[in-house]
Amino acid sequence: MKDASPQTIYLSDYTPFGWQVADVHLTVKLAPKATRVVSRIHFQPNPNAPAQDFFLHGEELKLIHAAIDGTEVTPELTPQGLRCDVPSGPFLWETEVEIAPAENTALEGLYMSNGMYCTQCEAEGFRKITYYPDRPDVMATFTVRIEGDTPVKLSNGNPTDSGEGWAEWHDPWPKPAYLFALVAGDLVNHPGAFTTMSGKEVELNIWVRPGDEGKCAFGMEALKASMTWDEEVYGREYDLDIFNIVAVDDFNMGAMENKGLNIFNSSCVLASPETSTDANFERIEAIIAHEYFHNWTGNRITCRDWFQLCLKEGLTVYRDSQFTSDMRSAEVKRISDVIDLRARQFPEDQGPLSHPVRPESFQEINNFYTATVYEKGAEVIGMLKRLVGDEAYAKALDLYFERHDGDAATIEDWLRVFEDATGRDLTQFQRWYSQSGTPHLSVSEDYADGTFTLTFKQETPPTPGQPDKAPQVLPIAVGLLNPNGDEVVPTTVLEMTDAEQSFRFEGLSAKPVASILRGFSAPVVLDRETSAEEKRFLLAHDTDAFNRWEASRDLARGCLFDMVTEGAGPDTAWIDALEQVIRDGDLDPAFRALMLALPTQSELAQMLHAKGITPDPDAIHAAAETLRNAMAERWSSLLPELMAATRVTDRYSPDAKQSGKRALGNAVLSLQTRLDGGKAAQAQFDAADNMTMQLSALSCLISAGAEDAALAAFEQQWKDDRLVMDKWFALQVAATKPETAAPRAEALTKRPDFDWKNPNRFRAVMGSLAMNHAGFHAKDGSGYRLLAEWLIKLDGKNPQTAARMCSVFQTWTRYDAGRQALMKAELERIAAKPDLSRDVSEMVGRLLS
Ligand SMILES: [Zn+2]
Repeated sequence: MKDASPQTIYLSDYTPFGWQVADVHLTVKLAPKATRVVSRIHFQPNPNAPAQDFFLHGEELKLIHAAIDGTEVTPELTPQGLRCDVPSGPFLWETEVEIAPAENTALEGLYMSNGMYCTQCEAEGFRKITYYPDRPDVMATFTVRIEGDTPVKLSNGNPTDSGEGWAEWHDPWPKPAYLFALVAGDLVNHPGAFTTMSGKEVELNIWVRPGDEGKCAFGMEALKASMTWDEEVYGREYDLDIFNIVAVDDFNMGAMENKGLNIFNSSCVLASPETSTDANFERIEAIIAHEYFHNWTGNRITCRDWFQLCLKEGLTVYRDSQFTSDMRSAEVKRISDVIDLRARQFPEDQGPLSHPVRPESFQEINNFYTATVYEKGAEVIGMLKRLVGDEAYAKALDLYFERHDGDAATIEDWLRVFEDATGRDLTQFQRWYSQSGTPHLSVSEDYADGTFTLTFKQETPPTPGQPDKAPQVLPIAVGLLNPNGDEVVPTTVLEMTDAEQSFRFEGLSAKPVASILRGFSAPVVLDRETSAEEKRFLLAHDTDAFNRWEASRDLARGCLFDMVTEGAGPDTAWIDALEQVIRDGDLDPAFRALMLALPTQSELAQMLHAKGITPDPDAIHAAAETLRNAMAERWSSLLPELMAATRVTDRYSPDAKQSGKRALGNAVLSLQTRLDGGKAAQAQFDAADNMTMQLSALSCLISAGAEDAALAAFEQQWKDDRLVMDKWFALQVAATKPETAAPRAEALTKRPDFDWKNPNRFRAVMGSLAMNHAGFHAKDGSGYRLLAEWLIKLDGKNPQTAARMCSVFQTWTRYDAGRQALMKAELERIAAKPDLSRDVSEMVGRLLS
């Protein structure tokens, strides 16, 4: 749907819907170009709502007829829905509409993917299926009858009856329409079973296209592990007789938590050692857990309105990160989460798209499925837990489930359970939900007569719509080390509430070395002036794994900064200090692999910009290359040793132990490639029997410019596997030299198998271009131009995916005048497209404002 003038919706305008829905009966008669949807809905006046017109959402629907209590009515139709005069008491509403799933390329509502019918209703897709009050605070039980000739027909809840050409489902749990789902197609299932903690048997299935059955076993085990974990850690039990997961090739997001019928992007559920990397396995495990956990945090307790999105997403991301920490290594997970937060959320919060964890207005809610709502939302939960302690957190969560089960709740409800369970006043803490921007925390130290004083100052820079900021509550985890490296004060959480605040540690025998913000205890930028010597000391001695990693990262950042701004050479003292960690066989290989990665080039650009220096992507790239070459040369004898030590000889398993070894081995291989031009990588590529080893080797060969034969062999081997070919497309653009990134991306778009309407394939090429920092920012503007062209093209078919990808331009004001002008011109070109979608229009408008 195109709006001439998109409406802005405000949190402060919330009004309850004038009616309650007792139950919904849907009959869906499937046909690719003319599906009929018959709805029978019992409405009754909502005593808690002000008087209002009876308005139902509905978009792109052909109304066949409508009736109230059996009498035909003629509602007033608008592009957004319908209005109708209705009785003052309860009534039965009936409509029949026609829709065309085969023509739905937006992948919202009911659509087709490879001959299979499926739905995506979050956030506002149900209104493309039938007329309905499509808002999360309207919750109802659903009974669904599916008619059609596909062998498998699925919906939410439990199956109740079926016959030749039809099947019926009933979901006894009241739910908002965004959790509705329907799937029908020629599918096969990988079955499983689970016995819940109260002894209930649950049937489990992963449904896939024939041929993909062999890629479901890992997902099934991850599902069972998630169900067990949620019982053990949160006391949450599954509540239906059946739990279905379906893999779909064309999907805008990762996966969707529809009640009892989770729909997954096939890339987020299908896995095998030959076709999936260790990182894919870990991601699949996390996403299956995430969607399953939503059954309680999202479905049983849902959001009152879309401004409360973080209520379900922040909490569920936090829960899935706890799960991964328990399944794998908590320290490695924490570092990985912070890398991700800094790469995706910090730029968002420091640019034109900055918004609070709970936004206060939007035009298109699809544009707010952001790193701020999800990842910063999860950080806020982590801080809350750190402040109240584990026991009080558990008590508050029990109260939350007890008090709000069946509710459409708000952030105020969420915080109130913490206040009631702990007696704390969370008024100031609530700012984390309303104030945007990343706080900067600076610190000064003082030592005299055995007393060590840390004085912190916090300041949050202005963000769009929020020029003045108030101080946040910051949990600052601190530990102190003696000059000999022993810890004298173990991790202590300091609670900072003022703009400036001091904390004292007494009875010390010598001036300690402070380890500050352990575990990244608050999502802030820590501005701390410490000597390189002290950072090397923390790198060697800190007992906190995160801060050990951070000390090294800081040294690397400082080194790259000096290389870019002063033409300095690589910091060999850092390289030597790092070597001690890399060599330490007692340390987790996954941790050592993380230590080997340099800060991203985008992170460097952000750091330069923050210090008032205009970042030059080419200079940053050159410095990173020089530094990595220096690391390789300095460790020329260590690298082959490490490669041998990390070799896995056991049968492949994606577990933390084996994948950590492979991660370290592959990080070493990329350095080794700088010395041998790809000889070791070619050998690994030829011998690889799993995707992790094969793909890493291919990546090294591409960066060495020695990839032609391997690329052809890879394509020959995997041309029929769409998910593996997505990797092939992506890697060529992501791993290539900057000057070839845009030309390569363009050449790939000319291939017949560049199916750009498939979001995975589109992102494989265009998303990778944006990730090749210096390539995307090519001085001649070729990267910007190519991406803008494709975003304009995609907008006509799939506005949601196009809009999300617009965020690659979010840092545009950070660069030099030439690049800024080029990016601005492309953004303006997108904005000028006739019939631009509401989604993209809002994004480009915010970027240019
Ligand atoms: Zn979610």
